[in-house]
Amino acid sequence: MNLSYWGTRGSVPTFNLQTQKYGGNTPCVALSDDQTLLILDAGSGIRGLGDSISQDMMDHYDIHILITHFHLDHIQGLGFFKPLYVPGKKITIWGPPVSDTTLRANVGKYFGPPLFPVHLRELPCALTLHEIVPQEPFYIHSYKIVADFICHPGATVGYRISKGNKILSYIPDHEPWLGSVDFPNHAEWTSGYELAKDADLLIHDSHFTNDQYEGKIGWGHCSIQHAIEFAKLANVKRLDLFHHNPEHTDEDLEEYYVRLVDNSLPFDVSLAREGTNVTL
Ligand SMILES: [Zn+2]
Ligand SMILES: [Zn+2]
Repeated sequence: MNLSYWGTRGSVPTFNLQTQKYGGNTPCVALSDDQTLLILDAGSGIRGLGDSISQDMMDHYDIHILITHFHLDHIQGLGFFKPLYVPGKKITIWGPPVSDTTLRANVGKYFGPPLFPVHLRELPCALTLHEIVPQEPFYIHSYKIVADFICHPGATVGYRISKGNKILSYIPDHEPWLGSVDFPNHAEWTSGYELAKDADLLIHDSHFTNDQYEGKIGWGHCSIQHAIEFAKLANVKRLDLFHHNPEHTDEDLEEYYVRLVDNSLPFDVSLAREGTNVTL
């Protein structure tokens, strides 16, 4: 499985000299092989990803965009993804079901005035929208995908993606502490556990430190410490800390890493960094 980070920042694009190492674009992760491009979230990072697609890839690749939820930082790049403007190009958007509306209506809120000049119906690509059925596996070529609701405000899913014997778990916005009375002790009662269990790589929310989390309980995000506890509970092989807080500089992130990541942990921990690749 080949994965690349196009956006690792949470909440809002954050570009300055202090964030240039880990990146300022909001969530977008690409998984590619020789026929498929799977894109996890359409934050501002998806613009650069779209620009990087060669003519050969555009002609031959099947493009699927898997959205976790409709918070702006996870869809704000969508209108700037060039393949959407290629006539006839087949593109599929997958997203969570929302009780009183359709996926088309939710994506359509972004496209069209007053927020965007182009209506969804005006896009020249051949766009298909699929609402996810939580816990029901679906297949995109050689990838097996399961999505399920996780603890975050509004209808939000995380994804578990398998290919061959490798498993990637993507849970960018998540507050596992909130849904469990004695987190992290009961796996079966912990939000997201089944998505992350035994994953080769878990990409997970790490928006706060425990001190910062105190005043932000219920906002939908977790601390670096909670992400590590969750990864330990799920028995993952590697954790990439993701959805960096816009207020955290590169220096802050590295200071937290040194202070909060115990190097005797039974798995690897990294700070997800825009512009880097991971092979599983
Ligand atoms: Zn987010
Ligand atoms: Zn969110």
